[in-house]
Amino acid sequence: MQIPFRRLTAEPQPFSLEKKGLMIEGTLRKYRSGLVLLEAVMQGSLDVDCYRCGESFAIMPDEKVAFLISDGPFHGQDETYDVVEMHEGVIDLDEIFDSEIALLESDYHACDKCK
Ligand SMILES: [Zn+2]
Repeated sequence: MQIPFRRLTAEPQPFSLEKKGLMIEGTLRKYRSGLVLLEAVMQGSLDVDCYRCGESFAIMPDEKVAFLISDGPFHGQDETYDVVEMHEGVIDLDEIFDSEIALLESDYHACDKCK
């Protein structure tokens, strides 16, 4: 799902997408010039590998994420949020959440047997 920066205003715009069994729901709104604030919750079930025995099992994440998305290269920093850069004037929600899910997957998860 791709959303052009120019379509976003200070009014929060809801979005939802589904990925790998996770339901992602959130909003996008203009934060300040060239920056959009994304707030979302990731819920559902996600298959991960146990870091000890390698067995695949499901976790039930309930993750809140909030960060800024920059229209082009971002210089400087924001005191509250991390900043993700996007290019060509569009916010690629698939790209953003593919990497958020990859982060969840790469955490150390132990299955019931190995806890
Ligand atoms: Zn295990």
